[in-house]
Amino acid sequence: MKKLPLPEVNDLDILETMKNSPGIACQPFITNEYDQMRLQYTRYANNDGNPWACVGGTISNDLTNKLEYHYKSPYSDLQYIKELRAKGSPDVCPFCGSLKTATLDHFLPQADYPEWIIYSRNLVPACDCNSKRRNDVKGQLQNQRVLHPYYDNCLTSRIISTDYSGNYEEPVINIVPLPVEGTAEETISFHIDTVVKRSTAIHWMEEKWQSMRRNPRVIISSIPRTAANLTIDELDTYLLETLEDKDEEHQTPNNWYSIFIHGIYRSEDVKAWLVHRFNGIKSGAIDPLV
Ligand SMILES: [Zn+2]
Repeated sequence: MKKLPLPEVNDLDILETMKNSPGIACQPFITNEYDQMRLQYTRYANNDGNPWACVGGTISNDLTNKLEYHYKSPYSDLQYIKELRAKGSPDVCPFCGSLKTATLDHFLPQADYPEWIIYSRNLVPACDCNSKRRNDVKGQLQNQRVLHPYYDNCLTSRIISTDYSGNYEEPVINIVPLPVEGTAEETISFHIDTVVKRSTAIHWMEEKWQSMRRNPRVIISSIPRTAANLTIDELDTYLLETLEDKDEEHQTPNNWYSIFIHGIYRSEDVKAWLVHRFNGIKSGAIDPLV
Protein backbone atom coordinates (compact mmCIF):
# COMPACT_ATOMS: atom_id res chain seq x y z
CA MET A 1 0.00 0.00 0.00
CA LYS A 2 1.48 3.27 -1.04
CA LYS A 3 0.36 6.81 -1.88
CA LEU A 4 1.21 7.72 -5.47
CA PRO A 5 1.26 11.13 -7.21
CA LEU A 6 -1.59 11.72 -9.66
CA PRO A 7 -0.63 11.00 -13.28
CA GLU A 8 0.09 14.22 -15.18
CA VAL A 9 -2.47 13.70 -17.92
CA ASN A 10 -5.16 16.12 -19.04
CA ASP A 11 -7.96 13.61 -19.56
CA LEU A 12 -10.59 16.23 -20.45
CA ASP A 13 -8.41 17.63 -23.24
CA ILE A 14 -7.84 14.13 -24.57
CA LEU A 15 -11.57 13.47 -24.47
CA GLU A 16 -12.24 16.63 -26.46
CA THR A 17 -9.64 15.67 -29.04
CA MET A 18 -11.27 12.26 -29.36
CA LYS A 19 -14.61 13.91 -30.01
CA ASN A 20 -13.06 15.89 -32.86
CA SER A 21 -11.13 13.02 -34.45
CA PRO A 22 -13.40 11.28 -36.97
CA GLY A 23 -10.76 8.71 -37.84
CA ILE A 24 -10.46 6.93 -34.46
CA ALA A 25 -12.12 3.63 -33.58
CA CYS A 26 -14.60 4.93 -31.00
CA GLN A 27 -16.36 7.22 -33.48
CA PRO A 28 -19.19 8.15 -33.75
CA PHE A 29 -20.02 6.91 -30.23
CA ILE A 30 -17.56 9.14 -28.39
CA THR A 31 -19.02 12.22 -30.08
CA ASN A 32 -22.61 11.21 -29.32
CA GLU A 33 -21.83 10.44 -25.67
CA TYR A 34 -19.23 13.15 -25.09
CA ASP A 35 -21.28 15.11 -22.52
CA GLN A 36 -21.90 12.03 -20.43
CA MET A 37 -18.23 11.02 -20.54
CA ARG A 38 -17.17 14.53 -19.54
CA LEU A 39 -19.62 14.51 -16.65
CA GLN A 40 -18.30 11.16 -15.45
CA TYR A 41 -14.64 12.25 -15.61
CA THR A 42 -15.49 15.36 -13.62
CA ARG A 43 -17.47 13.37 -11.08
CA TYR A 44 -14.52 11.02 -10.53
CA ALA A 45 -12.08 13.90 -10.05
CA ASN A 46 -14.42 15.78 -7.70
CA ASN A 47 -15.07 12.72 -5.53
CA ASP A 48 -11.54 11.27 -5.44
CA GLY A 49 -12.71 8.19 -7.33
CA ASN A 50 -15.01 7.18 -4.47
CA PRO A 51 -17.06 4.23 -5.80
CA TRP A 52 -20.04 5.43 -3.76
CA ALA A 53 -20.14 8.65 -5.79
CA CYS A 54 -19.30 7.21 -9.21
CA VAL A 55 -22.14 5.23 -10.79
CA GLY A 56 -20.87 3.26 -13.78
CA GLY A 57 -22.51 1.63 -16.77
CA THR A 58 -24.17 4.78 -18.15
CA ILE A 59 -22.66 4.60 -21.66
CA SER A 60 -23.57 2.39 -24.63
CA ASN A 61 -22.12 -1.08 -25.16
CA ASP A 62 -20.68 0.13 -28.44
CA LEU A 63 -18.67 2.87 -26.77
CA THR A 64 -17.62 0.48 -23.99
CA ASN A 65 -16.27 -2.00 -26.56
CA LYS A 66 -14.35 0.72 -28.38
CA LEU A 67 -12.85 2.14 -25.19
CA GLU A 68 -11.71 -1.38 -24.25
CA TYR A 69 -10.09 -1.61 -27.65
CA HIS A 70 -8.28 1.71 -27.09
CA TYR A 71 -7.11 0.56 -23.67
CA LYS A 72 -5.62 -2.62 -25.13
CA SER A 73 -4.06 -0.87 -28.15
CA PRO A 74 -3.55 2.82 -27.27
CA TYR A 75 -3.10 5.13 -30.24
CA SER A 76 -0.71 8.10 -30.10
CA ASP A 77 -2.87 10.44 -27.92
CA LEU A 78 -3.26 7.64 -25.37
CA GLN A 79 0.48 7.13 -25.02
CA TYR A 80 0.15 7.70 -21.25
CA ILE A 81 -1.48 4.24 -20.96
CA LYS A 82 1.64 2.64 -22.37
CA GLU A 83 3.80 4.78 -20.09
CA LEU A 84 1.79 3.90 -16.97
CA ARG A 85 1.96 0.23 -17.95
CA ALA A 86 5.72 0.40 -18.46
CA LYS A 87 6.34 2.29 -15.23
CA GLY A 88 4.40 -0.20 -13.11
CA SER A 89 5.50 -0.31 -9.50
CA PRO A 90 9.06 -1.58 -9.39
CA ASP A 91 9.19 -1.83 -5.62
CA VAL A 92 5.97 -2.05 -3.66
CA CYS A 93 2.37 -2.67 -4.71
CA PRO A 94 0.27 0.47 -4.00
CA PHE A 95 -2.78 -1.70 -3.25
CA CYS A 96 -1.58 -4.56 -1.03
CA GLY A 97 1.97 -3.55 -0.02
CA SER A 98 3.64 -6.63 -1.53
CA LEU A 99 7.20 -6.39 -2.77
CA LYS A 100 6.21 -7.83 -6.15
CA THR A 101 6.34 -6.20 -9.55
CA ALA A 102 3.13 -4.83 -10.93
CA THR A 103 0.86 -4.52 -13.90
CA LEU A 104 -1.75 -1.84 -14.58
CA ASP A 105 -5.08 -2.14 -12.79
CA HIS A 106 -8.40 -0.28 -12.98
CA PHE A 107 -9.25 1.13 -9.53
CA LEU A 108 -12.95 1.12 -10.48
CA PRO A 109 -13.17 -2.22 -12.32
CA GLN A 110 -13.80 -1.89 -16.03
CA ALA A 111 -16.61 -4.45 -15.99
CA ASP A 112 -18.83 -2.22 -13.83
CA TYR A 113 -17.34 1.21 -14.56
CA PRO A 114 -16.64 1.32 -18.33
CA GLU A 115 -16.66 5.14 -18.46
CA TRP A 116 -13.24 5.19 -16.79
CA ILE A 117 -11.46 2.48 -18.80
CA ILE A 118 -8.90 4.92 -20.23
CA TYR A 119 -9.16 7.62 -17.53
CA SER A 120 -5.63 8.11 -16.20
CA ARG A 121 -6.63 8.55 -12.57
CA ASN A 122 -8.40 5.19 -12.64
CA LEU A 123 -5.25 3.42 -13.87
CA VAL A 124 -3.10 2.30 -10.95
CA PRO A 125 -0.22 -0.18 -10.87
CA ALA A 126 -0.97 -3.33 -8.86
CA CYS A 127 0.53 -6.79 -8.38
CA ASP A 128 -1.45 -10.02 -8.80
CA CYS A 129 -3.65 -8.91 -5.85
CA ASN A 130 -5.54 -7.07 -8.59
CA SER A 131 -7.10 -10.29 -9.93
CA LYS A 132 -7.75 -11.59 -6.40
CA ARG A 133 -9.84 -8.60 -5.38
CA ARG A 134 -11.88 -9.31 -8.53
CA ASN A 135 -14.45 -6.54 -9.14
CA ASP A 136 -14.88 -5.66 -5.47
CA VAL A 137 -14.35 -2.00 -4.67
CA LYS A 138 -17.04 -1.23 -2.09
CA GLY A 139 -19.01 -3.04 0.60
CA GLN A 140 -22.49 -2.70 2.10
CA LEU A 141 -21.84 0.41 4.19
CA GLN A 142 -20.91 3.90 3.02
CA ASN A 143 -17.44 3.84 4.56
CA GLN A 144 -16.56 0.45 3.15
CA ARG A 145 -14.40 0.87 0.07
CA VAL A 146 -10.95 0.10 -1.26
CA LEU A 147 -8.33 2.79 -0.56
CA HIS A 148 -7.26 4.80 -3.62
CA PRO A 149 -3.47 5.12 -4.06
CA TYR A 150 -3.84 8.48 -5.85
CA TYR A 151 -6.20 10.07 -3.32
CA ASP A 152 -6.14 8.50 0.15
CA ASN A 153 -3.60 10.48 2.15
CA CYS A 154 -3.89 8.06 5.07
CA LEU A 155 -1.64 5.74 3.01
CA THR A 156 1.33 7.88 4.04
CA SER A 157 0.72 6.94 7.70
CA ARG A 158 1.17 3.50 9.22
CA ILE A 159 -2.35 2.15 8.93
CA ILE A 160 -1.96 -1.60 9.26
CA SER A 161 -0.11 -4.01 11.50
CA THR A 162 -0.18 -7.67 12.51
CA ASP A 163 -1.42 -9.73 15.45
CA TYR A 164 0.40 -12.93 16.34
CA SER A 165 -1.46 -15.47 18.48
CA GLY A 166 -1.42 -19.14 19.43
CA ASN A 167 1.86 -21.01 19.59
CA TYR A 168 4.72 -18.70 18.60
CA GLU A 169 6.63 -21.59 17.05
CA GLU A 170 3.96 -21.41 14.32
CA PRO A 171 1.58 -18.57 15.18
CA VAL A 172 -1.76 -17.58 13.72
CA ILE A 173 -1.08 -14.35 11.81
CA ASN A 174 -3.77 -11.73 11.39
CA ILE A 175 -3.59 -8.37 9.61
CA VAL A 176 -5.27 -5.57 11.56
CA PRO A 177 -6.05 -1.85 11.12
CA LEU A 178 -4.33 0.87 13.16
CA PRO A 179 -6.23 4.02 14.12
CA VAL A 180 -5.56 6.99 11.85
CA GLU A 181 -7.05 10.45 11.92
CA GLY A 182 -9.39 11.36 9.07
CA THR A 183 -10.15 7.85 7.77
CA ALA A 184 -12.85 5.57 9.18
CA GLU A 185 -11.69 2.25 10.57
CA GLU A 186 -14.31 0.46 8.40
CA THR A 187 -12.58 1.81 5.30
CA ILE A 188 -9.18 0.43 6.31
CA SER A 189 -10.74 -2.85 7.49
CA PHE A 190 -12.58 -3.21 4.18
CA HIS A 191 -9.33 -2.63 2.29
CA ILE A 192 -7.55 -5.23 4.45
CA ASP A 193 -10.30 -7.84 3.90
CA THR A 194 -10.80 -7.18 0.20
CA VAL A 195 -7.24 -6.56 -0.95
CA VAL A 196 -4.55 -7.48 1.60
CA LYS A 197 -5.98 -10.71 3.01
CA ARG A 198 -6.81 -12.04 -0.45
CA SER A 199 -3.18 -11.55 -1.50
CA THR A 200 -0.38 -13.89 -0.42
CA ALA A 201 0.62 -11.55 2.45
CA ILE A 202 -0.11 -13.95 5.31
CA HIS A 203 1.63 -16.86 3.60
CA TRP A 204 4.65 -14.61 2.96
CA MET A 205 4.68 -13.61 6.65
CA GLU A 206 4.47 -17.26 7.76
CA GLU A 207 7.63 -17.94 5.75
CA LYS A 208 9.35 -14.89 7.22
CA TRP A 209 8.37 -16.02 10.71
CA GLN A 210 10.08 -19.39 10.20
CA SER A 211 13.24 -17.66 8.91
CA MET A 212 13.16 -15.47 12.01
CA ARG A 213 12.65 -18.52 14.26
CA ARG A 214 15.79 -20.15 12.85
CA ASN A 215 17.86 -16.96 12.97
CA PRO A 216 16.21 -13.73 14.24
CA ARG A 217 19.02 -11.61 12.82
CA VAL A 218 18.21 -12.42 9.17
CA ILE A 219 14.83 -10.70 9.61
CA ILE A 220 15.64 -8.11 12.29
CA SER A 221 18.73 -7.02 10.43
CA SER A 222 19.78 -4.35 12.96
CA ILE A 223 20.77 -7.03 15.51
CA PRO A 224 24.59 -7.03 15.39
CA ARG A 225 26.13 -10.18 13.94
CA THR A 226 28.28 -10.48 17.06
CA ALA A 227 25.44 -10.12 19.60
CA ALA A 228 25.59 -13.04 22.03
CA ASN A 229 22.71 -12.03 24.27
CA LEU A 230 19.73 -9.69 23.95
CA THR A 231 17.58 -7.82 26.46
CA ILE A 232 14.00 -6.76 25.65
CA ASP A 233 15.17 -3.11 25.53
CA GLU A 234 17.88 -3.94 23.02
CA LEU A 235 15.43 -5.91 20.90
CA ASP A 236 13.06 -2.92 20.96
CA THR A 237 15.82 -0.69 19.60
CA TYR A 238 16.78 -3.16 16.87
CA LEU A 239 13.14 -3.63 15.85
CA LEU A 240 12.65 0.12 15.56
CA GLU A 241 15.84 0.52 13.54
CA THR A 242 14.84 -2.28 11.16
CA LEU A 243 11.35 -0.80 10.87
CA GLU A 244 12.77 2.62 10.00
CA ASP A 245 15.07 1.09 7.39
CA LYS A 246 12.25 -0.85 5.74
CA ASP A 247 9.88 2.16 5.75
CA GLU A 248 12.59 4.21 4.11
CA GLU A 249 13.67 1.56 1.63
CA HIS A 250 10.14 1.10 0.32
CA GLN A 251 9.02 4.73 0.89
CA THR A 252 5.89 3.62 2.72
CA PRO A 253 5.22 2.21 6.21
CA ASN A 254 2.57 -0.08 4.70
CA ASN A 255 4.85 -2.53 2.92
CA TRP A 256 4.69 -6.21 3.90
CA TYR A 257 8.08 -6.19 5.62
CA SER A 258 7.26 -3.21 7.86
CA ILE A 259 3.79 -4.58 8.60
CA PHE A 260 5.41 -7.85 9.72
CA ILE A 261 8.02 -6.15 11.94
CA HIS A 262 5.54 -3.66 13.43
CA GLY A 263 3.35 -6.49 14.77
CA ILE A 264 6.38 -7.91 16.60
CA TYR A 265 7.38 -4.50 17.96
CA ARG A 266 3.97 -3.88 19.50
CA SER A 267 3.63 -7.29 21.23
CA GLU A 268 5.40 -7.72 24.58
CA ASP A 269 4.65 -11.46 24.48
CA VAL A 270 6.23 -11.96 21.06
CA LYS A 271 9.29 -9.95 22.10
CA ALA A 272 9.71 -12.02 25.29
CA TRP A 273 9.47 -15.22 23.23
CA LEU A 274 11.94 -13.88 20.67
CA VAL A 275 14.53 -12.82 23.27
CA HIS A 276 14.24 -16.22 24.95
CA ARG A 277 14.70 -17.95 21.61
CA PHE A 278 17.62 -15.77 20.48
CA ASN A 279 19.48 -16.20 23.75
CA GLY A 280 18.72 -19.94 23.79
CA ILE A 281 20.10 -20.42 20.28
CA LYS A 282 23.23 -18.41 21.15
CA SER A 283 23.89 -20.37 24.37
CA GLY A 284 23.24 -23.71 22.68
CA ALA A 285 20.18 -24.48 24.83
CA ILE A 286 17.83 -24.25 21.81
CA ASP A 287 18.38 -26.03 18.51
CA PRO A 288 17.45 -23.44 15.83
CA LEU A 289 16.18 -26.14 13.49
CA VAL A 290 13.73 -27.64 15.96
ZN1 LIG B 1 -0.73 -6.05 -4.65
